[in-house]
Amino acid sequence: MAYQTTNPYTEQAGAPFAECTAEQLETRLATAAACYGTWRSTTFAQRKAVLLRAAALMRERSEHLAGLITEEMGKRIAESRGEVALSAAIIAYYAEHAEQFLATEEIAVKGGEAIVESSPIGVLFGVEPWNFPYYQIVRFAAPNLMAGNVVMVKHASNVPQCALAYEQLMHDAGAPAGAYTNLFISKDQVAQVIDDLRIRGVALTGSEAAGAVVAARAAHNLKKTTMELGGSDAFIVLEDADLDLAIKHATSGRMDNTGQACTASKRFIVVESMADQFLLRFRAALEQFKPGDPMDEATTMGPLSSESALHTLLDQVERARANGATVLLGGARLARSGYFMQPTILSDVARSNPAYKEEFFGPVALFFRVKDEDAAVQLANDSPFGLGGSVFTNDIERGKRVAGRIETGMVFINAALTSSPELPFGGIKNSGYGRELSAAGIQEFVNKKLIRVA
Ligand code: NAP
Repeated sequence: MAYQTTNPYTEQAGAPFAECTAEQLETRLATAAACYGTWRSTTFAQRKAVLLRAAALMRERSEHLAGLITEEMGKRIAESRGEVALSAAIIAYYAEHAEQFLATEEIAVKGGEAIVESSPIGVLFGVEPWNFPYYQIVRFAAPNLMAGNVVMVKHASNVPQCALAYEQLMHDAGAPAGAYTNLFISKDQVAQVIDDLRIRGVALTGSEAAGAVVAARAAHNLKKTTMELGGSDAFIVLEDADLDLAIKHATSGRMDNTGQACTASKRFIVVESMADQFLLRFRAALEQFKPGDPMDEATTMGPLSSESALHTLLDQVERARANGATVLLGGARLARSGYFMQPTILSDVARSNPAYKEEFFGPVALFFRVKDEDAAVQLANDSPFGLGGSVFTNDIERGKRVAGRIETGMVFINAALTSSPELPFGGIKNSGYGRELSAAGIQEFVNKKLIRVA
């Protein structure tokens, strides 16, 4: 697909950006490799100075950067500003804490000394998605730059202006040429970059399909990968839950970013005694959304990111219906310009229905009624995905017990999932492997080198 902006609200396309020629790609790889030679031996203080400038520039340029997100993928402007602020916070977090996270560890041994140093491993390659155009790249780039690695990023083809704005920002912050490189490259060139001996690790955030292709290629080259893939998070409401709170979070959990988040709440699993009330109020809440121009502060629901994203979702809803699901709300494209989907609720999704195991990447909620806590946990775990999940109960100890039984990388009690620099982020099963953010996120691509003094 061409690197090109198509505004999902106006449906207007901009001019495509040129892809890298073979020579340009070689120059960029060589520049990154040369940069690693010097960047790896800079001090934490030197790297911190560059990253803190980058965080400050993000905050200074917030209006411009947020406007690009909204123009390219349709996020509501207030949410775009929130993404810019969170991205700046992540950069600053690693600038401040990397030295402590990567401090040399001493191991108690009989005689002599043993220490484990954390050293960088080289040039890393990231493949990133459009749904959070800056947040996704800083989760990968900030910790790795602080660790002394250098990074190259192939961003999603529908957010090229965000990709360039971030590269420019790193340049303006004083990062040397090659420390952070944007690549407008084809899928064949992605494979070529993974094969390149100068690349030492690969990270992908995106769909299972893309993850499988990229991870297989990297495995063939014996290169370490991290995979942050899709999810179909369960949102469990137990009989002792605060229903007001549950409705508030169910609504934001499903509708933030127009439902286009890997950790969005997607499967609403409610125990029998709460089910009717929950459904009534959840439906009423979803009916309140006001679609409109995502640049307008009064809009509460933006368009989906692209025409193909809209058609994929409509096809999924249609297939779910054909296989026996009941459409309780919405289910269709909005009759207006822009790639808008009606907020939708599906119920009666049987285990044999393909929808039961699919991720719905947009404002489509799957509703399930269950008999009790055990049935809720069983249904939550009956998914190929294992990213996040939520449990609502007024008994926190019970909430922790239920959270402990859910097979995912993250569970929130009495809240929909949110992300914060200090909280580890990642999944299990088909949601991928490895962690980003927190102290864990900076350990993925470092060499834990043992030095033993005999
Ligand atoms: P996608 O199609 O997999 O795209 C993600 C990135 O992978 C893009 O840069 C895309 O490039 C590239 N790509 C796709 N196929 C490829 C291939 N065969 N070879 C090399 N690169 C390839 O995903 P999406 O639909 O844009 O994003 C939504 C998915 O990402 C959802 O499943 C969501 O749950 C997941 N996600 C996961 C997390 C997490 O942290 N777990 C976070 C956000 C999103 P092009 O744009 O050029 O196709």
